[in-house]
Amino acid sequence: MRRSIATVSMSGTLRQKLEAIAVARFDAIELFENDFIAFNGSASELRAMTEDLGLGIDLFQPFRDFEGMPDDAFQKSLDRAERKFDLMEALGAPLMLVCSNTSPLALDDAARSAAQLHALAERAARRNLRIGYEALAWGRCVRLYGQAWKIVEQADHPHLGLILDSFHTLSLRDNPAGIAAIRGERIFFLQMADAPLLAMDVLQWARHHRNFPGQGQFDLENFFLQVLLAGYAGPLSLEIFNDQFRETPNRRTALDAMRSLLLLESQVRARLERERERDTAVASPSRDAAAHTLQRIELFDPPRGPALEGFSFLEFGVDDDNAEALGTLLGQLGFARAGRHRTKTVTRYRQGDIQLAVNAEPASPARARFDAQGPSVCAIGLATAEPLQAASRAAALLSARHESPRGAHELQLPAIVAPGGTIVHFVPSAGGAMLDADFVATPGSTPAPDAGLVGIDHIALGLAQDQFDTWILFAKAVLGLQRGESLELADPFGLIRSSGVANATRSVRLVLNVSLSQRTRTARQVSATGRAGGGVQHIALGTRDIFATMERLRGNGVRFVPISANYYDDLLARLDLGEAAVRRMQSLDILYDRSPTGEFLHAYAFADRFFFEVVQRKAYDGYGAVNAPARMAAQEQNAESTKK
Ligand code: MG
Ligand code: MG
Repeated sequence: MRRSIATVSMSGTLRQKLEAIAVARFDAIELFENDFIAFNGSASELRAMTEDLGLGIDLFQPFRDFEGMPDDAFQKSLDRAERKFDLMEALGAPLMLVCSNTSPLALDDAARSAAQLHALAERAARRNLRIGYEALAWGRCVRLYGQAWKIVEQADHPHLGLILDSFHTLSLRDNPAGIAAIRGERIFFLQMADAPLLAMDVLQWARHHRNFPGQGQFDLENFFLQVLLAGYAGPLSLEIFNDQFRETPNRRTALDAMRSLLLLESQVRARLERERERDTAVASPSRDAAAHTLQRIELFDPPRGPALEGFSFLEFGVDDDNAEALGTLLGQLGFARAGRHRTKTVTRYRQGDIQLAVNAEPASPARARFDAQGPSVCAIGLATAEPLQAASRAAALLSARHESPRGAHELQLPAIVAPGGTIVHFVPSAGGAMLDADFVATPGSTPAPDAGLVGIDHIALGLAQDQFDTWILFAKAVLGLQRGESLELADPFGLIRSSGVANATRSVRLVLNVSLSQRTRTARQVSATGRAGGGVQHIALGTRDIFATMERLRGNGVRFVPISANYYDDLLARLDLGEAAVRRMQSLDILYDRSPTGEFLHAYAFADRFFFEVVQRKAYDGYGAVNAPARMAAQEQNAESTKK
């Protein structure tokens, strides 16, 4: 399909927007009128610029408050339209978007609206231009695509068609199923926007919180499917009003934008293919429609997303001093020093199925990361039966590949760069054994006693606000993770927005945290990462017996975040856990949560830049968010008392 984006979706000057859009390989733009009004050049200069960049101007928008007006206002609007038609001719823009009228003067008279739009289309036709009519969710009389379509039908002019916008339909919870019945050639343009589900005024929601498909919570797959089934063959375009995008570097926004369209196309393609493969012995109109649509429209077809099996390893980028301090902490946590890399200053630690690498190699990507932001997780290994396929899909969905310098006989893992620069390696399922080849046992080191930690339960990332949508889309599109619920958690100094993403089997779980305030611990951790915009904040290690593990770890000298006695009194009051069980948790600073299906027990160890969490999960799908305020307050109060 022809892929397009509205200039309003991006930050920067118009020239910067166009360059970023071209770099992301869009075919065309929707020119938002305000961008042109503020542009320091003529229409023909802009046209030349877009042509040089290989971009078409597929739509000029918006033309407001036109239809359903009293006669004198209508005549003035026709004059206004002629001036804009002059501009469109100079720009080479063939289509004008007329959005439904929001003026208090508008009359609720469909016949009048149809006649006036017919007159406008007639004027446009003289110049071989076209008019697309869009229902705004906050239009005065016309809000639904069904209403707009009736007016377009009634106007009955070949230069007048319908413009569909997923935001306006889905924000009003209107059913898109009726779209499939509209003749595709009467739909002149398709605008896609996603959004988080928010209970707020629809205009404010639309102007500040739209995001790219896959970043929000609308069912865009179904919306797009209905439009394709209608027979639509025009551009697939993004029109996103978002406060964050106005601040985000526009190369990243343009890349996210293209990634979102590629993902959406591939999802709908998969859906159509499933429909087409349905039992051919039975007559099925929907199967025939799916087969016809797949023949007619080319939809993006990336390598299938691989099944992820779990975290294979985490790698820390450090210098020599930090390597030693981290090594000491890992020893206390029950990790055995399992070997040194053949050729690099990398030490490997193991416990249960957990593998950690501490990389202090000078002049390495890990060290560069350390130099930029202090000790951090610089790489994540994800186990999959199909590492090459995983990397191919990632590349198809616009992730940069990472090539690491490699010594002789060392394993080459396909790797990509996640947003912010963390490297993601795809490790063959038997990766433990294969990694062994890169490491030699360190003689003489006495392994600390195992503390019963068996696997990486989840990792939490602290992200800058403008990284959140980017990460959500990366996690979905590239890693195939699904989003869980989003929560807002109270830190003593502000709110944290937290959203889990996980694979279907829950063997890979990430928690994405964004601080809405500059003063929280999360915000401070994120700002320490500079341009990376955040990174791994804590690592949750699973145990099958948290009490035994905690006793062992405390015996080893690991310090845990002390939880207030008031928390445990409240736990007793809220849940029928029994005094003895609660007091035992209290003695070990273990937090507790319960869901309809299971239980979650967890505790937080102190560390500097990132910290470790010990968790025991029993048929429980969340992350103990209910306990986050108590934990975050405890961390701050501890910092306060150590300062005194
Ligand atoms: Mg729109
Ligand atoms: Mg956690």
